[in-house]
Amino acid sequence: MAEHEHVRVAVIGSGFGGLGAAVRLRREGITDFVVLERAGGVGGTWRDNSYPGCACDVPSHLYSFSFAPNPDWPRTFSGQEHIRAYLERVADDFDLRPHLRFDSEVKLMTWDEDELRWHIETASGSLTADVVVSATGPLSDPKIPAIPGLDSFPGRVFHSARWDHDYDLRGKRVAMVGTGASAIQIVPSIQPEVDRLTVFQRTPPWVMPRMDRAIGTAERKLHQALPFTARLRRGLLWGIRELQVQAFTKRPDELGLVERLAKRNMARAIKDPALRAKLTPDYRIGCKRILLSSAYYPALAQPNVDVVASGVTEIRGSTVVAADGTETEVDAIVFGTGFHVTDMPIAERVIGVGGVTLAEAWKGGMEALRGGSAAGFPNWLSVIGPNTGLGNSSMILMIESQLNYLADYMRQLDTLGGRTALDARPAAVGRWNRRVQERMKRTVWNTGGCTSWYLDAGGRNTTVWPGTTTEFRQATRRVDLTEYEVLRKPATKPAAVPSEATA
Ligand SMILES: Cc1cc2nc3c(=O)[nH]c(=O)nc-3n(C[C@H](O)[C@H](O)[C@H](O)COP(=O)(O)OP(=O)(O)OC[C@H]3O[C@@H](n4cnc5c(N)ncnc54)[C@H](O)[C@@H]3O)c2cc1C
Repeated sequence: MAEHEHVRVAVIGSGFGGLGAAVRLRREGITDFVVLERAGGVGGTWRDNSYPGCACDVPSHLYSFSFAPNPDWPRTFSGQEHIRAYLERVADDFDLRPHLRFDSEVKLMTWDEDELRWHIETASGSLTADVVVSATGPLSDPKIPAIPGLDSFPGRVFHSARWDHDYDLRGKRVAMVGTGASAIQIVPSIQPEVDRLTVFQRTPPWVMPRMDRAIGTAERKLHQALPFTARLRRGLLWGIRELQVQAFTKRPDELGLVERLAKRNMARAIKDPALRAKLTPDYRIGCKRILLSSAYYPALAQPNVDVVASGVTEIRGSTVVAADGTETEVDAIVFGTGFHVTDMPIAERVIGVGGVTLAEAWKGGMEALRGGSAAGFPNWLSVIGPNTGLGNSSMILMIESQLNYLADYMRQLDTLGGRTALDARPAAVGRWNRRVQERMKRTVWNTGGCTSWYLDAGGRNTTVWPGTTTEFRQATRRVDLTEYEVLRKPATKPAAVPSEATA
């Protein structure tokens, strides 16, 4: 990295969010930007999660960029390697390579109140930027619980998102800790080859059948020859999910029917009533993410699998001890225990106005105007920020909405001219957040009787969007300047835009 390098925009992360931002900036005619990535390649989630069986839970024709359709998806639900390859292609097709800076983990970002720019320190050097787009991903920093004795476990330990491909699981006794989205894909993939698999389950998930199938050559050719057929397919996939949202956000009681289908999915494979009782959730379906698998329950029913319906409390030598007193000797422990979602490490590294870190600003819970701007952090936009997650549809829809917002943000800065920055007004952030939290009260995520990673340490849901993707698209179409204070260099009074009181 050149000394004293300055760019208009620094994008952090090269997953769907970061690459999407890069494409969008180029489309807006902005080429003075870099994409800072801590790893050695693009892909984010789909680079880091290479565990056996890793695949998407949203059909590929919806889980892809609208501006980069792929008529060649090989399956209805693509596997990790195909999604990763897709993102590599996006980087090539949109000529993003010259902007990519790998091995450039962002260590610190500090807002310069005099110069109205961000000072960014990375593993490969430092630079300044007018605008930061933080696309570091809500599920990119793996979380392993602090279990007494784990440090002295003599076998192999790894997290699902950092799979140890050098370790051969064949013939081993393996503990799978956790039963979330990753675990239910790992379990059926490794069950046939391990000696014994013990699944430690704190809370059973609801699991629906996965309607996955290969997409045949004729179908692919049709999409290639007549691109509108692929758009139609995407539209249908989107529309169905858009209709389902009402049940999650307004009428959780309607989800009872879905629970019956999930129970039937379990009953088909699990004949042992005791095991079935262990695996039956006691909360409303949808409260935690609904998982899709037609292979999970059949794998659990195999003779080399045990389910311990209890969390892990201690590791004693090579023995895993559960809260119910069960002791299991194992050779390897695989953690499918999720990510730092509401305590994102990046928040410790962002220092805004007055030297306040984002982590400090968010200590009462994450909040950002329209999911993107935090008060006191001018010209800093987050992609997949607070309350932008979805329970049942494609995150790419939300990312693209935030990219629309980014594009208008850049236009607004251009129109205002000079060295300008936008700082979200605390009142606007508060108003947005109150509306989100008010709507959240009725949702299945808050009323369904579970605790989940959607909730923060204070029990507040700061992760999920309590509406349709259409509503979010509308809310992020344009930047409303009355929601921001306009800062100018040299520092003067705020520029003459209507204040909130008069807007
Ligand atoms: C196993 C798994 C399955 C999933 N399945 C689905 C699904 O079915 N449907 C769905 O909608 N979503 C799914 N998701 C959610 C998924 O994370 C999002 O859909 C999307 O991929 C997020 O893209 P992103 O670019 O925001 O973040 P990521 O893909 O996580 O990318 C973030 C990037 O930022 C980089 N980074 C982080 N910190 C720094 C730093 N300090 N400096 C530099 N670089 C940094 C990371 O290395 C990474 O490359 C899944 C997630 C996981 C983990």
